[in-house]
Amino acid sequence: MSQQAMPAPEHRLSAVRGRLLWLRHDPFLDDPGTALAEEEDGLILMAGGKIQDVGSHAALVSRLPPGTPVDHHSGKLIVPGFIDLHVHYSQVGIIGAAGHRLLDWLGQTTFPAEMAFVDPAHARAVAAFFCDQLIRHGTTTALVFTTVHPHATDALFEAAMARSMRMVAGKVMMDRNAPASLLDTARMAHDDSLALIDRWDGMGRLHYAITPRFAPTSTPEQLEAAGALRKRFPHLHVHTHLAETLDETAWVRSLFPDRACYLDVYDHYGLVGPRSVFAHGIHLDEGEFRRLFESGAAVAHCPTSNLFLGSGIFRLAAARARNRPVQVGLGTDVGAGTSLSMLATAGEAYKVAQLAGHLLSPAEALYLATLGPARALGLDDRIGRLAPGHDADFVVLNPAATPLLAMRCQQAGSSADLLSALFTLGDDRAIAATYVAGSRMAPS
Ligand SMILES: [Zn+2]
Repeated sequence: MSQQAMPAPEHRLSAVRGRLLWLRHDPFLDDPGTALAEEEDGLILMAGGKIQDVGSHAALVSRLPPGTPVDHHSGKLIVPGFIDLHVHYSQVGIIGAAGHRLLDWLGQTTFPAEMAFVDPAHARAVAAFFCDQLIRHGTTTALVFTTVHPHATDALFEAAMARSMRMVAGKVMMDRNAPASLLDTARMAHDDSLALIDRWDGMGRLHYAITPRFAPTSTPEQLEAAGALRKRFPHLHVHTHLAETLDETAWVRSLFPDRACYLDVYDHYGLVGPRSVFAHGIHLDEGEFRRLFESGAAVAHCPTSNLFLGSGIFRLAAARARNRPVQVGLGTDVGAGTSLSMLATAGEAYKVAQLAGHLLSPAEALYLATLGPARALGLDDRIGRLAPGHDADFVVLNPAATPLLAMRCQQAGSSADLLSALFTLGDDRAIAATYVAGSRMAPS
């Protein structure tokens, strides 16, 4: 779809019929055998952008008044809308720019791309394209990095609002170790963020995230300003990067010699707690995992990015250890990530988990793409499952989207195996439809 006015919420009852699949609970911690909830021939009733009821078609069909519109997705699989827990909208134009490790990638690829966002028209065009692409890939909510320019955050929120999407984003705070044209100051970052919070947080389905890029590009004064915002608005999200590479981790140690570890830098400034999401978390020790767990903070695991930049192997099983399970969700981390597809990202998470000695089950992969990130964002009472009272955000997957997928999925003996095939072979071609707040969004 192209940019448009915010769609009016559909208050009439409508319904979607098909094979439904979602998670009852966390398959890493609770009985994995009963984690997947399924309705072979299911029905979702919705009105006003919310799910009214979910169950079998046989049980619910009598609730439909005559003439109620029903979208019947025969042969398809309906799952909760995907939640991308870490992505940079300013970097969609540099996916696959090869030849770098993290710190060179930032200097030679990322920063030049972000400089172009000084032009508000460019920001608006990319934001609209990005939101359309999320929908095309079945992603209905994302935690998004913008750029240092306040109008780039306005542009993203405007585009999300025009599509009624639940979106979490914030202005990048960055006052050192980057090109001069991308730097703010501690004071500017504080005041610009404050103005954006006033303008956007809580508007429609929008949430503001305090967004220092990462410790090396913020002075202690700026991190203090970020912490002051968090203290003043404790409901806000915090979104930053943590322990992606060893070079970066060593750099942080030299910049903040008084802090015990990388995580302690953020902790010192009051930035570690519920709704704090740290991208990567590859090079963390036991104490840092424990502190993340105890504080209620979360990690965004970004497998395609970690592979593309050669950053390292995320230790998923260690992060989710039963005695102190850190909340984890998947992020595409585009542009270092190589796909906006959460299907493809889950497929790569499986391979990275293999390298770290963990067999990621299809239910666990679905958790990392739906309920896990919803919990990381503190929004699991609204998104991440097919449940009454939740936002009517869901995705219709087509197991016959390509000849190879069709052949493979015909052999699938269970819904878990079907999911596994979709994670391995699926991408935006496998998204038959995306429903955002109950509205079927036209493909773009
Ligand atoms: Zn990132």
